[in-house]
Amino acid sequence: MPALSRRRFMTLAAAGSAFASGGAGLPRKSFAAAPFAQPPLPFAETALAPVISAQTIQFHYGKHHAGYFTQLNQLAANTPYADLSLEQVVVKSAAAGDLRIFNNAAQAVNHNFYWDGLKPGGGRLPGGALADAIARDFGDVQAFKDAFVARTIGLFGSGWVWLVDDNGKLAFLEAGNADTPLVHGKRPLAVVDVWEHAYYLDYQNRRADHVRAVVDSLMNWDVVRDRLTA
Ligand code: MN
Repeated sequence: MPALSRRRFMTLAAAGSAFASGGAGLPRKSFAAAPFAQPPLPFAETALAPVISAQTIQFHYGKHHAGYFTQLNQLAANTPYADLSLEQVVVKSAAAGDLRIFNNAAQAVNHNFYWDGLKPGGGRLPGGALADAIARDFGDVQAFKDAFVARTIGLFGSGWVWLVDDNGKLAFLEAGNADTPLVHGKRPLAVVDVWEHAYYLDYQNRRADHVRAVVDSLMNWDVVRDRLTA
């Protein structure tokens, strides 16, 4: 069944069909319900304080992130999207112009990636491939971190600033709202969430101060290195 569903999906996506509503004569019963599940946090909700307080995580993980999964599961139920991986849903919904599916699926994936890249007592850059790439593309670690923070100031409104592998070169990508490197052919390596819900309880309007603290003390650069060398 999954293979058939995927083929049908590809055909419909190629035709640009507005199929997610379940219209266009689709055999709705052939598609499973969509049980996309929010992964558990990789740390205690108190672990990132004081930079990211337990209260922020209770809302950010427990309400915002969880809400994207709830919305996605409602939207994707009984559609071909229900048979895909979360990452496939992001790419296919973007190609098909299914904006509500895309926004919720992308936000689900973006936050999975965000939480996985943080840890208490982070911020220390390991030697090896990541350090070598930073030296090659930014000169030194301080210039790299400064550039990361500067790009978050440059992003107007809600969104994400991504560190990506762009054809073998490290680069930053400013991404508004739910936008993600997955739909731009770039490999995501690290991300900072700069929606106001990520920092407003702890830093209010001081976005740059928040990002500086995340980059200096919470970013799990070992994970970033592993993503680069994977
Ligand atoms: Mn967020």
